[in-house]
Amino acid sequence: MTSTTTTPRSATGSVALRGVTKVYGQGENAVLALDGVSLDVAPGEFVCLVGASGCGKSTLLNLVAGLDRSSGGQIDLGDGVNPGLMFQEPALFPWLTVEANVEVPLKLRGLPRAERREKVAELLRTVHLAEFGRKRPHQLSGGMRQRVALARTLALDTPVLLMDEPFGALDAMTRDILHDELERIWSERRLTVLFVTHNVREAARLADRIILLSSRPGRIIYSTRVDVPRPRRIDSPEIANIAAEVTDRLRTEVGRHGQ
Ligand code: ADP
Ligand code: MG
Repeated sequence: MTSTTTTPRSATGSVALRGVTKVYGQGENAVLALDGVSLDVAPGEFVCLVGASGCGKSTLLNLVAGLDRSSGGQIDLGDGVNPGLMFQEPALFPWLTVEANVEVPLKLRGLPRAERREKVAELLRTVHLAEFGRKRPHQLSGGMRQRVALARTLALDTPVLLMDEPFGALDAMTRDILHDELERIWSERRLTVLFVTHNVREAARLADRIILLSSRPGRIIYSTRVDVPRPRRIDSPEIANIAAEVTDRLRTEVGRHGQ
């Protein structure tokens, strides 16, 4: 028998963080934004990360996205996957049509023109914007622009979606509809989603698991599974109960800082 140890290859679609820390700045001005965060997201899991403003949610997402480097610890995306990203602002190219915006990642992936066209049409159907391909972003509502951003992210064909308060700027009704859409797309495509929000109800509505981050330093202080069957309603009593539980924890945490 040989005694070689093999590192288990992590599954496609998984996200693993081991003791991740992030310090911004140096010396007296140093801010410990994340302190030893460890987290395993399973392929196909929907995890919501909640916490008070400034607790390090975006920092964590940016590290997983590879937009910034951690100060310590390890981040492992199964099979070296490049995750898709979505932010509160859709960041579309204003001079391009909806179709052309969604086509950008397909071009970057080097797909031939005919295939790109087919794919763009399919993606626009997926987000219910089939009729709007020729419009420009300014001709669309905020909710529609986020649908375009979602279609563009899906065009990357990646199993991992990282979303930083993607519906934070939308009205409640539009957000409700987009929750339904995202849930459908997530389950159809078996995506792994790491979703940041400060809206606890939104987290309870969407998540398989809710992770609560503390503030300064950002640490995982609480985690709970949401075993409510899908599809869910944000105004159902089950979701309200879970949201209340998480809100209590969050209040205790914020109180600890005397904010
Ligand atoms: P959240 O997304 O939860 O609101 P952030 O991740 O944006 O929190 O910020 C976490 C902490 O790190 C905050 O104290 C913030 O001021 C600090 N921070 C974030 N980005 C930077 C940066 N580029 N330089 C210095 N400090 C930063
Ligand atoms: Mg943020």
